[in-house]
Amino acid sequence: MPKLKVIVVGAGLGGLCLAQMLRRADIEVEIFERDAGPWARQQGYRLHIDRDGVNALREVLPDDLYRLFEATAMRPLPFTTIVDTGLKELRRMPSGGPDRAPRHWLAEGDPQHVNVDRTTLRHILLTGLQDVCRFGARMLRYETDAEGVTAVFSDGSTARGDILVGADGIRSAVRRQRLPEARIVDTGVRAIYGRIPIERVRHLLPGQVLGDVFTVASDARRVFFGLGPVVFPNRPDVASGRIAPQAGLSSQEDYVVCIVGGRREYFPGDGAMPREAGGPALQALSIGMLDDWPEAAGTILAHGDPSSFFAIEMHTSVPCDLEETFRVTLLGDAIHVMTPTLGRGANVAMRDAALLGHAIVAVERGEVGLALALNAYEREMTDYGFSVVRESAAMGQRLMGQDPLPAQRSHRVAFLKRRSLQPSVFLL
Ligand SMILES: Cc1cc2nc3c(=O)[nH]c(=O)nc-3n(C[C@H](O)[C@H](O)[C@H](O)COP(=O)(O)OP(=O)(O)OC[C@H]3O[C@@H](n4cnc5c(N)ncnc54)[C@H](O)[C@@H]3O)c2cc1C
Repeated sequence: MPKLKVIVVGAGLGGLCLAQMLRRADIEVEIFERDAGPWARQQGYRLHIDRDGVNALREVLPDDLYRLFEATAMRPLPFTTIVDTGLKELRRMPSGGPDRAPRHWLAEGDPQHVNVDRTTLRHILLTGLQDVCRFGARMLRYETDAEGVTAVFSDGSTARGDILVGADGIRSAVRRQRLPEARIVDTGVRAIYGRIPIERVRHLLPGQVLGDVFTVASDARRVFFGLGPVVFPNRPDVASGRIAPQAGLSSQEDYVVCIVGGRREYFPGDGAMPREAGGPALQALSIGMLDDWPEAAGTILAHGDPSSFFAIEMHTSVPCDLEETFRVTLLGDAIHVMTPTLGRGANVAMRDAALLGHAIVAVERGEVGLALALNAYEREMTDYGFSVVRESAAMGQRLMGQDPLPAQRSHRVAFLKRRSLQPSVFLL
């Protein structure tokens, strides 16, 4: 029976989920993360988790950590509410819906939509993995041979294993080497995110904001303003003390994440400025973007924590085909990064992790060969992953003026020719 060693590059949500699952199955795993430590970089605030994410977490986490996730996850009403620029309710739309429901294994009573604090979730996912997680390890490249795969890091060190998983996000070094033709493109949309303690704005918020998944307004330019609550049902530090003391979660206050975004033309310097600016300047800019709106939105933004504001440029992957692999695979944003319009990127990354985890466990048990297992995983993962990329792009086009997804380039044809297949078989 094989005794596998798995190298995971990237300790984001996807990489940690996979490592949790492998650990549960007693498969040797080592995670290499370029950041100096788990909290070296601000990674965002609220995350919308849907049934893909809930399913994956239930599959990969030990029972106590899954219960801790549940105990700290807000269960909002399953609505996204559209408001006008004066924040008056226009309509409430069910989040997701049966037609959008992914195939899943949801247990009776499991929530279908939760709002979680990203730091709290990542903390839970890191629990029990500290001894196999190497920080300050930036992978540069890998080399494969008949017996295994070797990852090479920026400090000259190397690590050897049977399988290498690129869970290294949007600028994935693993993807660059494995799929040099794969494209990540700028969608033309920019956004500024910030965090507002609830107690400062409770009296200013429209009634449903603290209950729904998300509330959003947009104007004729499709410049938008969104609010998403994180109201902890239990204090994270108290819940972890009761359920999983080894997690040692820290105390957190309830907050609302705020987002102001739109096409880069509406930002100073054609959207180049937000990248350079600090938190207070970005907060002022986000308020300025809504200058001609009734004052309610700007007043709410002004209550945000100035240092919490940061800017992002929204990028998307362009769906592509993957050639067959033997030892090196990808998951999450490393292969199918998408715009956050549907709030699904992390969910799909965690779904990948659970699916790949099952595949690796089957190899370890001798039920299937390594190449067969990885290629079956990649077929299924790219099928649902790229379909969510397309869905997010279509929604982003309608709601934020996102550039349409470019057509797939000729490397697809070259790939098909190499495999002697007719392009018409695959054209979308
Ligand atoms: C503002 C914003 C809001 C979002 N909101 C939601 C939401 O509500 N719901 C949702 O589902 N998704 C959301 N997303 C998307 C979600 O954040 C991502 O899809 C998710 O984090 C992807 O997880 P990942 O593990 O694939 O990659 P990441 O979380 O990006 O992790 C990749 C890790 O790899 C490390 N790394 C990179 N290069 C190397 C290297 N060479 N060597 C070693 N390590 C490396 C990085 O430091 C990082 O820690 C949002 C995204 C943004 C930007």
